[in-house]
Amino acid sequence: MNFKNFPMVSKVVFGRGSFNQLEEILLLKRLNVNAPFIFLVDEVFQGNEKLTSRIPLAYEDEIIFISAAEEPKTSQVDALVEHIILKFKDRPSGIIGIGGGTLLDLAKAVSIMLTNEGETSAYQGWDLVKSPAIYHVGIPTISGTGAEVSRTTVLTGPEKKLGINSDYTPFDQVLLDPELIQDVPTQQWFYTGMDCYIHCIESLTGTYLNAFSQSYGEKALELCKEIFLSDTIDKKEAEDKLMMASWHGGMSIAYSQVGVAHAMSYGLSYLLGTKHGLGNCIVFDHLEEFYPEGVALFKAMKAKHNIELPQGLCKDLSDKEFNTMIDVALGMVPLWENALGNNWNKTITREKLRSMYELM
Ligand code: NAD
Ligand code: ZN
Repeated sequence: MNFKNFPMVSKVVFGRGSFNQLEEILLLKRLNVNAPFIFLVDEVFQGNEKLTSRIPLAYEDEIIFISAAEEPKTSQVDALVEHIILKFKDRPSGIIGIGGGTLLDLAKAVSIMLTNEGETSAYQGWDLVKSPAIYHVGIPTISGTGAEVSRTTVLTGPEKKLGINSDYTPFDQVLLDPELIQDVPTQQWFYTGMDCYIHCIESLTGTYLNAFSQSYGEKALELCKEIFLSDTIDKKEAEDKLMMASWHGGMSIAYSQVGVAHAMSYGLSYLLGTKHGLGNCIVFDHLEEFYPEGVALFKAMKAKHNIELPQGLCKDLSDKEFNTMIDVALGMVPLWENALGNNWNKTITREKLRSMYELM
């Protein structure tokens, strides 16, 4: 097919306090009393009654708290699926992910692997999933990645960091309650929020741009400017708008691609485990050459919120390590093509990438 024909999230609720409506939403989806709902919840909420007391548990339903300290792995998905299969008589009625990109991606992957045989790593790639996933719900508690709308779940496997991109990956239901993001610490709020900003810049300046992507990208960028640069925006309004910026940023890249910051950040993440939002910020800070206006604005946002990015990440790396990062970054062909056009490899040589990584 020449034109991408992709599914979208089928149902979405938006509103402050809408988390209280989860019980009503799930009620209609319970298959039987032996088919539980499994809630995968960011460990940061363990002991947080304000949230956990409102998770509507019944029958065999289970909450599994999971740390977001590291990005999701295929082996972690395999272990969760095995736990669920061994523990419950029936296949679950649904998987509900509550957290940031890490938990949302885990929920998507677990729901796919409950109906598809073998190991998760076999499905990393494009359109390898055979059977529809079980019902899955995404509830973001931090905003920016766009994982709530995307057609992928990014996983680190034994050989590669690559998403399960499939028509069965998007959530059946998303619940956007801006109250859930109110306690995110400033640094993390900034890193994940900048993921959205960088999606906009990379999409809007890319060669893959089209009216579909542009319409979402421009809206998300306008919201980001307001959220991160306005002196008058109030906290609640900023929370509401960040949730929608993340959504639009995600929609914008669905029909285009990201660019230089993401390609290079994948290298940092693969070698050093640098998390997505932070890695993007570290790289983007040095990309004036490619995104002059975008980087100038990024620096203004960084200054406004007193964000200091880690420096010298690459200063003690060996040649072999630099080469690993360069290999990972160069492997992201569509990202470079989007950023610089078909002749991208005339400018992006190994030496060029090495000199850029050396600045970080
Ligand atoms: P995250 O899920 O890794 O969470 C970041 C930190 O914020 C964690 O320490 C977490 O515990 C904390 N946190 C989350 N909600 C909180 C809250 N309400 N209060 C306090 N702390 C809170 O962060 P992220 O940036 O949203 O996600 C990054 C992940 O998303 C990466 O694994 C990346 O690969 C993935 N990603 C996926 C897509 C996609 O389309 N599927 C797109 C971009 C990124
Ligand atoms: Zn991103």
